[in-house]
Amino acid sequence: MPAAPGGPRLLLRRLREAMAEPVSPQARLDRIVTLIAANVIAEVCSVYVLSDDSTLELFATEGLNREAVHLTRMRSDEGLVGLIAKTAEPLSLSDAQSHPSFSYRPETGEEAYHAFLGVPLLRAGNTLGVLVVQNKTYRVYSEEEIEALQTTAMVLAEMIASGELQALAPGTGPVARRAVSQRGVALADGIGLGHVVLHEPRIVVKQLIAENVDREVERLELAIGEVRSAIDDLVERGDSIGTGESREVLETVRMFAHDKGWLRRMREAVQSGLTAEAAVERVQSDNRARMMRQSDPYLRDRLHDLDDLANRLLRTLIGHEGNGDRVLPENAILVARSMGPAALLDYDRTALRGVVLEEGGPTSHIAIVARALGIPAVGEITNATALCDAGDAIIVDGATGEIQVRPGPEIEAAYGEMVRVRAKRQEQYRALRDLPAVTRDGVAIGLQLNAGLLIDLTHLAETGADGIGLFRTELQFMVAQRMPSAAEQQTLYEAVFAATGDLPVTVRTLDIGGDKILPYMPALEEENPALGWRAIRIGLDRPALLRVQLRALLRAAAGRPLKIMFPMVATVDEFTRAKAIVEREKAHLRRHGHPLPSDCRLGVMVEVPSLLFQIDEIARAADFLSVGSNDLMQFLFAVDRENRRVANRFDTLSVPALRAFRLIAERAAAAGCPATVCGEIGGKPLEAMALIGLGFRHLSMSPAAIGPVKAMVLGLDASAIAALIDAEMARAGDGETLRPALTAFAKAHGVPI
Ligand code: PEP
Ligand code: MG
Repeated sequence: MPAAPGGPRLLLRRLREAMAEPVSPQARLDRIVTLIAANVIAEVCSVYVLSDDSTLELFATEGLNREAVHLTRMRSDEGLVGLIAKTAEPLSLSDAQSHPSFSYRPETGEEAYHAFLGVPLLRAGNTLGVLVVQNKTYRVYSEEEIEALQTTAMVLAEMIASGELQALAPGTGPVARRAVSQRGVALADGIGLGHVVLHEPRIVVKQLIAENVDREVERLELAIGEVRSAIDDLVERGDSIGTGESREVLETVRMFAHDKGWLRRMREAVQSGLTAEAAVERVQSDNRARMMRQSDPYLRDRLHDLDDLANRLLRTLIGHEGNGDRVLPENAILVARSMGPAALLDYDRTALRGVVLEEGGPTSHIAIVARALGIPAVGEITNATALCDAGDAIIVDGATGEIQVRPGPEIEAAYGEMVRVRAKRQEQYRALRDLPAVTRDGVAIGLQLNAGLLIDLTHLAETGADGIGLFRTELQFMVAQRMPSAAEQQTLYEAVFAATGDLPVTVRTLDIGGDKILPYMPALEEENPALGWRAIRIGLDRPALLRVQLRALLRAAAGRPLKIMFPMVATVDEFTRAKAIVEREKAHLRRHGHPLPSDCRLGVMVEVPSLLFQIDEIARAADFLSVGSNDLMQFLFAVDRENRRVANRFDTLSVPALRAFRLIAERAAAAGCPATVCGEIGGKPLEAMALIGLGFRHLSMSPAAIGPVKAMVLGLDASAIAALIDAEMARAGDGETLRPALTAFAKAHGVPI
């Protein structure tokens, strides 16, 4: 292939004319391959399109046998074309037939050609097909020729993505519109059906081919200059508030903004005849393709930074239209790379049906907020933002962590049915709302809510819960941009007490550290954060923080009863010291004439196993105990509660776990100290049934669990379950789980679990 007569600019101009001609899609595609072949002096030019059945179909050719068009199909992992689709990289060979991946298709008449150059048709990093040129001679294609073909490929990719070619291959849709199912991690339960709304709308480049290359070069340089100085400003101001970006990220972005290789590639793309924005997109698309295939998380993050930079450039070139519009269409499913809790709260909740994130683990702040809002959410969906287009149909399954993009009718119907079943069940639970939670043999069970944000309190009336059994105060700190002031803390607690009225509220003091990080507090490098400087340990070592919180609480609860409990207490002495701080604060308020709570009770979370061996002493010292089973089980079995690899290694219904729960229930009762369970275990009907059998009479749980647990309580005979557990625990050994025996009991006695 000697130097092209007109070069890529001329080709792009011709392509623009071809795109504008009022002809059929097939005629247009045929014209395009002819133009490409003529321009690059190749004997063959062919386009293969990836279809939704994962085959690559020959859509047009100049030079090969035209009869083979729409007949020749290859698996997406077959032949050289398949290899290009898989790697999303260009492939240039002087002797194609000697390549191990070469696959001979007699119908095409391909055997006469030796030199081969193929490039992927990429859009937003997704491979939509492959463009190939071939020559009879054994020749080596130059870097410029490869670049030029990639630029041309971009125009074809847009044509495929527009759906224009769909009619050419009945029965298969081009891959851009293919149904995709992907699994990440479940963040917030529930099923949402709706349409994609991109949190940061992708910028659509409409004008691909330049009318005036010099003008486009100028536009690109201006935009690069503008973006660079905007980033310099941000770095120099050194404040991250309002942008949400940390300094470190900005520094990296700044480095990329000066990256010579990146700038050169964009400049070359403009020189070849693309508009400035198309040049940015062309380089961005290659980058995205690399990002999708990158498994090293550090490198993937860097490619993400580069992607952000390209978006900034595009926004500068095209303007900001379409951005910042928080009004949602009906049944919106938000798709984002990542999102802060504040951004989620900005959206109209009545239209929001789900959230899909590329990042975000189950303990991320956004997950906590989504759960509080009752919005199904899924995280860790690789490349979610590139996978879907705005308006695509999508289903979020917050129970399994799956998403279905552009689902087929059967999938949609199956999920629709699931939603109806769930709604019906909710209806049944609502009917139980005003019934007292009393077992069949007359034992009253207190069912309370776990909460942490003001929005959680709306669930009190909805569920008919008896109060708040655990108010996690750290959530206010975690969603804030900076440390909440004493006044802000007091305002929140006042609002909580106002919303709960006469119902009891148990407030837990700050439980930070471990996995609960405050963005504005310097992060500590700890080998084992779960066993590190956290919760009450910080409170006792830095009493100022604890004192401010206690004072805010005592003032907010003036004239009403208040229950305060301390997290992660490991010794009786720690509780005694915490109690002394409360007494000091009470004395201080009294001295200054502030009214105090009418009754102030101080409790301890039982979540460190050492308390099991001081259970009598702690039950005598505390006004109440609350079992934090999430942490208690983590420490009892030495199993990291966030590590999915070990999460299923033990059962909370196994004999050792049940012995720990029984010990707490029995000794607390003997000391006349009320004991509650507030970990996740209390919200699962089967587990809650076991806890009642062990002697617990108060459980605190997430709002969605109240209905199912109440239904279980109403169908249960407390003395029968106690007898079963006694017998089974006496019989079972070897750390055996009672789950099968408990399940069989529920079934035999008609207890809904
Ligand atoms: C627990 O550990 O069970 C608990 C309720 O506290 P958290 O989940 O907030 O650690
Ligand atoms: Mg805990």
